[in-house]
Amino acid sequence: MKKEFAVIGLGRFGSSVCKELFRLGHDVLAIDQDEEKVQDVLTIATHTAIANATDEKALQSLGIRNFEYVVVAIGDDIQSSILCTLLLKELGVKKVWAKAQSYYHQRVLEKIGADRVVRPERDMGMRMAHHLVSENIVDYIELSSEYSILELKATDKLHQRSLIDLDIRAKYGCTVLGIKKMDELNISPKPTDHVEKGDILIVLGHNRDLKKFEDTGM
Ligand code: ATP
Ligand code: ATP
Ligand code: CA
Repeated sequence: MKKEFAVIGLGRFGSSVCKELFRLGHDVLAIDQDEEKVQDVLTIATHTAIANATDEKALQSLGIRNFEYVVVAIGDDIQSSILCTLLLKELGVKKVWAKAQSYYHQRVLEKIGADRVVRPERDMGMRMAHHLVSENIVDYIELSSEYSILELKATDKLHQRSLIDLDIRAKYGCTVLGIKKMDELNISPKPTDHVEKGDILIVLGHNRDLKKFEDTGM
């Protein structure tokens, strides 16, 4: 179903939102006060307008209240972002999604009625951190809300060390259920068995303990 969106602020974030909505087949009105920014989106928007989004009359003359969704993608100018969001809600726009640059910016936007606030730089940074950290996680089985089995790829830190030496159960409260080597699976490892870099350890434990092992033991 085709929807109508308006995107205000055509920086990297706003123009990306605009482009993708347009590519998905929706109508997009792209607004910026900077003529050059508007020129850049002519081929990836249905309509464009050069306007100051903190000017109530300008917003009204664009018929902004008729859009179900309006995206406020003004990041650096917090004052404009807040004022624009406030006006949009006062004019009766049902859904205002806004981009914030900080925690307090987000809080203010939520207070004045923004329906959804995203912080793309923070969110993407967090996602990337998770990807980086879990580079060693090969697989994950949730046993309950608290306990899981992880398959972790052994790092240099574990290379040629025995289970006695690693002392994983005592140090982290996790149990090594098995060790997968290239072509064999050892499902009842003895304390004297050695781990090689690249082996897959099948580890059972409380999520908190698994995280601790993954963070500091690997
Ligand atoms: P990026 O996504 O590139 O990081 P940003 O979130 O840091 O961008 P800015 O670069 O500060 O945001 O602004 C995005 C756009 O919003 C700019 O093109 C700017 O011209 C536009 N803009 C800022 N204030 C207004 C306003 N009052 N009315 C219309 N457009 C505005
Ligand atoms: P237990 O009390 O179970 O008899 P232990 O402490 O007397 O054990 P070992 O069983 O030889 O001694 O193991 C020494 C240490 O090696 C354990 O405390 C444990 O932390 C670690 N360990 C041995 N096997 C495993 C395993 N399969 N998974 C995780 N850690 C292990
Ligand atoms: Ca920015």
